[in-house]
Amino acid sequence: MFDSVLIANRGEIALRILRACRQIGLKTVAVHSEADATLRHVKLADQAICIGPAAARDSYLNVPEILLAAKLTGAGAIHPGYGFLSENASFAEAVEDAGIAFIGPTADSIRRMGDKVSAKQAMLEAGVPCVPGSEGALPEDDDEVVRIGKQVGYPLIVKAAGGGGGKGMRVVRRPEDLLASVSLTRQEADRAFKNAAVYMERFLEHPRHIEIQVLADQHGNAVWLGERDCSLQRRHQKVVEEAPAPGISRSDIAAIGQKCVEACLHIGYRGAGTFEFLYENGEFCFIEMNTRVQVEHPVTELICGVDIVAEQLRIAMGLPLSFSQKDVVFKGHAIECRINAEHPWTFMPSPGRLTRWVPPGGGGIRVESHMYADYEIPPHYDSLIAKIISYGEDREQALKRMRQALDEVVIEGIDTNVPLHEKVLKLPDVVEGGFTIHFLEKWLTSLDVARYPQ
Ligand code: ADP
Repeated sequence: MFDSVLIANRGEIALRILRACRQIGLKTVAVHSEADATLRHVKLADQAICIGPAAARDSYLNVPEILLAAKLTGAGAIHPGYGFLSENASFAEAVEDAGIAFIGPTADSIRRMGDKVSAKQAMLEAGVPCVPGSEGALPEDDDEVVRIGKQVGYPLIVKAAGGGGGKGMRVVRRPEDLLASVSLTRQEADRAFKNAAVYMERFLEHPRHIEIQVLADQHGNAVWLGERDCSLQRRHQKVVEEAPAPGISRSDIAAIGQKCVEACLHIGYRGAGTFEFLYENGEFCFIEMNTRVQVEHPVTELICGVDIVAEQLRIAMGLPLSFSQKDVVFKGHAIECRINAEHPWTFMPSPGRLTRWVPPGGGGIRVESHMYADYEIPPHYDSLIAKIISYGEDREQALKRMRQALDEVVIEGIDTNVPLHEKVLKLPDVVEGGFTIHFLEKWLTSLDVARYPQ
């Protein structure tokens, strides 16, 4: 049990965590960089401590400073949010070794799921379908690699076991390119992730990205909270997410959801988590698990009424889940647009002073944002400045409300991707739903960017 939570993050998710803590009567500690002293959650927290200069490695990734801040403030738990230290097993270990509760899974679970080779192995054991590929990491022997390549079939994708953020992956279409690609991916993986292990998977040409949200407590209970369709992506980064996924039968979702629950129990998982799948020709193929809260969690909250962050806190306090699978009822449709401080067509980051900020509102609109007028967006961090989430009785109403919200929102002083969202949400394929992960990039390359103001 604990009665105060240190929030080891910034921006909209720090505010989201602070609000959840307050709802259930927990005190809050904000830790912030020198660039973030004026953030909303810093002002609202019971205690606030500056932990270092603007650069993330000196502040939000600075483990000794964060632990010292927890000690000085008497925080009983640490919530890592997403990004930064949220999937760092050594951090989770250091937190627990200091006698502080880590709001997330055990360090062992993070480690096991953070290595994609061991994650896939665990999923296969638990009966979760995976993309067909090599058994474990590739061996050093070239002949063996060529033989495995032939077995997997072309096109295939070589992936780093320790990869993340869409990095450390290479598609191979011809057998003669295989060995060079494996060697290059190994070198990159070694440099970027300090882990040269790579593996092979069949490359799916037209998949959708469908993910399953789960919650598991420390008493052997786990539930799945439906799926999210995150197929609208650019450079493997999600731009729009929605729930439920259009055109997939509820019984197929329930079957894969149940498998994810079984996988949680198999690996002794605790906390919130997401199983990511590629979905093609009616089949789900596991690609990775995220062992933390995700940016897009609100779309799930809106269609099933569960406060995922509050549940994370309760689970960490050792409480059992307050509901079971049969209590989870899905209703309506939700869509999230990620609003970034960037040029809508060149994607150049656009930090600077936000001279005007008028968020949208009305029925079925939720805004998660740390913005306010005259806020100076620092150049040091992620460009996400707001999430607009719409809810409707059905997809059509959710889309209609989102279009209205995008029309209403006023953001001046910086560039944002609102114009991109406005255009995308009117495209026939998007109105129809069920497009693949390549849809947005294909549409973007078909645009005559010169026609748009730079
Ligand atoms: P990361 O951890 O870097 O996000 P993932 O394993 O989740 O890596 O893959 C990121 C993206 O790469 C996927 O959403 C998909 O677009 C693409 N991808 C990964 N594996 C495959 C595959 N086997 N076939 C086709 N695309 C893939």
